[in-house]
Amino acid sequence: MTHVFHRQLKSPLPVAVSGQGAYIIDSTGKRYLDASGGAAVSCLGHSDAEVVAAVKAQLDSLPFAHTGFFTTEAMEELADRLVAAAPRPAGEAAARTRTLDKVYFVSGGSEAVEAALKLARQACLDRGEPGRDLFIARRQSYHGNTLGALAVGGNAWRREPFQPLLMPAEHIAPCYAYREQLAGESDADYGLRAADALEEKIQEVGAHRVIAFVAETVVGATLGAVPPAPGYFRRIRDICDRHGILLILDEVMSGMGRTGHLFACAEDGVVPDLLCIAKGLGAGYQPLGAVLCSAGIYDTIQGGTGYFQHGHTYSGHAAACAGGLAVQKAIAARDLMPRVRKMGTALSERLQARFGNHPFVGDLRGRGLFQGMELVADRGAKTPFDPSLKLNARIKARAMEAGLICYPMGGTIDGVRGDHVLLAPPFIVEEAQLDELTDKLAQALDAALADIA
Ligand code: PLP
Repeated sequence: MTHVFHRQLKSPLPVAVSGQGAYIIDSTGKRYLDASGGAAVSCLGHSDAEVVAAVKAQLDSLPFAHTGFFTTEAMEELADRLVAAAPRPAGEAAARTRTLDKVYFVSGGSEAVEAALKLARQACLDRGEPGRDLFIARRQSYHGNTLGALAVGGNAWRREPFQPLLMPAEHIAPCYAYREQLAGESDADYGLRAADALEEKIQEVGAHRVIAFVAETVVGATLGAVPPAPGYFRRIRDICDRHGILLILDEVMSGMGRTGHLFACAEDGVVPDLLCIAKGLGAGYQPLGAVLCSAGIYDTIQGGTGYFQHGHTYSGHAAACAGGLAVQKAIAARDLMPRVRKMGTALSERLQARFGNHPFVGDLRGRGLFQGMELVADRGAKTPFDPSLKLNARIKARAMEAGLICYPMGGTIDGVRGDHVLLAPPFIVEEAQLDELTDKLAQALDAALADIA
């Protein structure tokens, strides 16, 4: 009998005891290939000696110093590195205001999103626009489980039980080509049309009320690795600029190298005003998140209130920042970004070969080592499986049986829950492990489909 209040109250969990590269080993000695990094966290695998040593060294010298009193070398150096790697805006005026050159550290993804929402509101207050009180975000998005993040999130089933507690927020359609692109419409035309939904929503609610638009650069935990259409975010940026609306990009899952670029939005040619990161930042070695903040927002708040009324006891924890710094050093020293792109292509090719013609796989998509699969009961009509069959939960259970950790999830499609599988193996994954992943996933999928046949 466990006294731990686990998120899943009905079934017992195996006891994880050790990690070895891409594998987790449980108390019975069973090995699981971690093909999703938990939830896109473990980008360096589970036993990186350099990161462990860096955390230990920080614990030996100073485990904790409250950031209301002190800064630390690890926090300063990590911020320097993130700022140096952040995408740069084009043009002189944008470079002055939009360069992401401040980093606000927190302990996870939801905290990063909460901080970004409050920073955006604070910036509106400090520029004399207190009437801006509304966020616009997207349906089928996930920004975290705290109440502010849940309010901007657009994942219906996660929101539902807490709906009466959520602040008002507006939602537009996601950029989701598999279901929203029209027959004969080019990718570029679709990207522009999808972005124009923001313009329409702004006209409807009034631009003077909108603080910011919030979106995941590549959608993760609700739809399984859906990249934006070409030109989508550039159009979104233009719309936001025209109306004085801030752009918050959530790269908690897709950032920190998962797509083959340290910041996913670099590939889309946009620089947001606030950029949320977590997961791969601490890589599972420590709980860590951050918000990269533009010079413009920082200067506005500094020249106004001069204070950001926020913060948590463990924000910028010294050992967490030391871990995050070691992860960044490892990614740079081992030149892992080209590797993620190469192995991402290798994974996507394997998935296409194995599942491209599968009768119940409707779509395969993704970027780098961030790949997703959408399951459908009917490929032609793109009909989702009946949610009461709980296909995604069955795939998860069957995969665990087979010794595979993947991240099946239920998204909501036109009010109906659909089934998706997210794959996010570590950046150090080997080709042979990609074969193992594909084999075990096929085995789990077949077993789960047989369960509901
Ligand atoms: N934002 C995105 C895009 C996420 O995928 C997640 C978690 O899955 C979060 C925010 C919340 O992060 P955390 O679980 O660390 O609070």
